[in-house]
Amino acid sequence: MSFQDNDRNVDSSKNDEYHDDLSLGNIFSSDRWTEYFDELSKTCNIELSGYDADGTRLFVTNENPFCDYTRAIQSESFDCPNSCNKLLQIDKSGIIRCQSGMTCFSVLIERPGEKLFIVGRGGFSTYDDLLGFLRIIRQHNYPELPISMPLKFIEEDSIKALSRYINLSVSRQLRSVEARYRLKEKLLRMTSLFDSQAFGTLSKSPQLMYRYILDTIEFVFGDASAVILAPVGEQASFHTIYSIGKHKDALAELKLDTNNPAMQKMRDAGGAVFFENTDEVLPEGQFSEIKSSYFLPLIIRGNIEAVVAVFNRDFMIEDMKILNAFREYVQLNLENRDLRQAVLKNDKADRELTCLTDVTRSISSILDKKILLNTLLEKSLQLTNAEQGSLMLMDADTSELVVEARRSVDDMVQEKMRFKAGEGISGMVLEKGAPILVEDIEKDPRVRQANRSRYRTKSFVSVPIRIEDRLAGVLNLSDKIKGGVFNKKDLDLIESFVSNMVIAIDRSILFGQAEKLQKLSITDPLTGIYNRRYLNRRLSEEITRYNRYRHPFSFMMLDLDKFKEYNDTFGHIAGDNLIKNLADTMEKSLRTIDIAARFGGDELVAIFPQTPKMDAIQICNRIKEEIVSSLSEHNIEMPITISVGLATFPDDASSIMELIEKTDQALYLAKKGGGNRVVYL
Ligand code: GH3
Ligand code: MG
Repeated sequence: MSFQDNDRNVDSSKNDEYHDDLSLGNIFSSDRWTEYFDELSKTCNIELSGYDADGTRLFVTNENPFCDYTRAIQSESFDCPNSCNKLLQIDKSGIIRCQSGMTCFSVLIERPGEKLFIVGRGGFSTYDDLLGFLRIIRQHNYPELPISMPLKFIEEDSIKALSRYINLSVSRQLRSVEARYRLKEKLLRMTSLFDSQAFGTLSKSPQLMYRYILDTIEFVFGDASAVILAPVGEQASFHTIYSIGKHKDALAELKLDTNNPAMQKMRDAGGAVFFENTDEVLPEGQFSEIKSSYFLPLIIRGNIEAVVAVFNRDFMIEDMKILNAFREYVQLNLENRDLRQAVLKNDKADRELTCLTDVTRSISSILDKKILLNTLLEKSLQLTNAEQGSLMLMDADTSELVVEARRSVDDMVQEKMRFKAGEGISGMVLEKGAPILVEDIEKDPRVRQANRSRYRTKSFVSVPIRIEDRLAGVLNLSDKIKGGVFNKKDLDLIESFVSNMVIAIDRSILFGQAEKLQKLSITDPLTGIYNRRYLNRRLSEEITRYNRYRHPFSFMMLDLDKFKEYNDTFGHIAGDNLIKNLADTMEKSLRTIDIAARFGGDELVAIFPQTPKMDAIQICNRIKEEIVSSLSEHNIEMPITISVGLATFPDDASSIMELIEKTDQALYLAKKGGGNRVVYL
C-alpha cells in the first residue's frame, strides 16, 4: 500500500491561526489542522482523534460507526471509550485491541515538555473479532447495528503501517510550521535591530554601518563566518572591510576582482547568488576550509556598493530567504540615503534651477503618494502657465499607463483611467522615451483627428518620466493660458523639473516599501520599549513556560491618572514627553528579567516572569512609588500619579486574553477607587 500520492500539505499561504503560540495543543486544535486531520482520516479510512497528556480530547475526525454505536450503548461489556483510552496510558506509540475487538493504534508526538497522542480507530482485524463483537450484541439484546456499508478488515500489519505513516506525515507538517515560525522570528529580530533609527545614526559612517550589518548577522545566525567587502579608493576590486566568525582572520585578506565569477553572477542576477563549492570564487590556498558561500550584493542605482558573503553555513532555504530579505531591507535604506543626497547635490549643481529645486525639496518631504503626485502636477502647470494636465504612471503588472493625478476643465481624462503602451500620445511618449511638443494639433500628423477635440487650444507637451533607467510614466500639459503656444523653453523647463521630481516620486514609492518593513518592528516608536505585538508573543511564551515548569507569572498594567488634563494644560508634546519619561522610569525600576511594553496611549504594562502574586504585589507597590516620586519631581506644577492593576497566571486566568482582561479589570477598580493605588485580583 502506498500513501505517498495522498499526502497533503497544509496550505502554507493561509495565515497561521495559532499565531505565536506554538504549543502542540494549540496547533492541533487549530481549524487548519482539523482540516488536515480530516483529510488524513479520509485518506487512511480511519477515525483519528488527538488527546493531550491528561486525556483531554483536542480533535476528532469523522467518527468510526462502530465506536459511535458502542459509545451510544454505554455498556459495561464494551466500556467505551475507556477501554481504548487505555492506549493513552501506555505512554508510547502502540497497538491494542479494544473491548469491542477492534484494532486501534496510538501515535505519541513528543516535544520537550509536551506530549500528545493521536489515536486511530480503524476496525476489525479478523472475521473472528467481528463475530465476537456481534455475539456480545446478541447476548445483551442490544439494538441492531445501524451499519450498511460493506465491511473491510484491516490487518494488524496494515494498522502498523498506517500508524507509521501518520506519525511521519504529522511530524513533517509540524517541522514545516516550526520552520516558518523560525523564519518570522529571525526576520523580526533582524529588522528590529536594524530599525530606521539605528540606520539614521549608522548611515553617517559606512564603516560603522558595515560592521553593524555583520554584527546583526552574527547575532541572528550565531556561528556564521561572514565578511563585508567594498571597493577601496579608486580600485575596482572589492576588499574586506570587516569579517566575523571562525575564518575571520583569513577572510580579512579577501579581495574580489570585478571579473570574479561571484561578482559577475551577482551583476547578472541583480541579487544574491549561492555557490555550493567555493573553489571557483575564492583565491586558492588560504580558504580551503570554506566550502559553500552565499554572496549578497547591496545594489544602489544599478551599482554594487558592497557585498556581504556568508560562508560554510548549512544553508537552509529559510536562512537564505531571511538573509536576502535583510539584504533588500538594508539596500532600501541605503537607497533612501542616496536619494536624500541626490536632492542635496542637485541643489548645488543647478543654480539656474534653484527655484525648481526649492520646489523639489519641499515636495520631497511629502510621503503620501497621492498628495505628492497632485502637487507635482500643479507645480508643472504653474511653471508653464498651463490649465490642463495629467500625470500617469506605469503599472508594471499590466504594462498600462494609469492616470494618478489630473487637472482637467471638462473631465475628459478620469483619474485611474488606463492606457495601453503605444496608445495615444502618452503611450507613444512612453514607448519612445522621448518628449513630444506639439505647436499646432491641426497641422501635426502625430495627433489623430479623433483626439483633437480633447484640446481646447492647439498646443501641448508630453514628457516621459524616467526613474533610473526605467520609463516610469508620462506628464502631459496642455491649454496654455490665453491660448499661448508651448515652446522649446517650456519643454526644457519641464524636463528639468521632471528629472528633479523623480527623486521625490521614487522616494515616495520606496518609502511605502520601507514602511511595510517597519511594521515588522517590535518596539514602540515613542518610548522605545516593546510594543503590543511583541507583548502578546512574550505572554504566550510565558504560558508555554508555565506549562513546562509550572512557575506562575504576573502581569501588571499601569495608567497615568488624569492624563487628559495634563495634555490639555501642557500640550500634546509635553504629554508625549511624560509618556516617554514614564516608560524610562518604569524600565529603570523593573528587574532585568521583567519585560516592559506600551499597551497603548498612557497605558504601560510589564510581565514579571516566575513571580507569584505575593511577590508581584510588593514589586508593583515599589514601582508605583518610584514612578510617582520621579515623575512628580519633574512636574511640580501638576503632581503625577498612576494607577496599577495586577493579575497572576494561572491563579486569575487561563489564557492571554483572560489575563489581560483581568488585569484591566483590576486597573479599572484602581481608577474607580480614586486612582493612585495598586489593585490586584
Ligand atoms: P484616567 O485618570 O481615568 O486614566 O483618565 P485619563 O485622563 O488619563 O484618560 P485615559 O487614560 O482614559 O485616556 C488617555 C488619554 O491619553 C487619551 C489621549 O488623549 C491621551 N493620549 C493617548 N496617547 C497619547 C500620546 O501618544 N501622546 C499624548 N500626548 N497623549 C496621548
Ligand atoms: Mg489615563
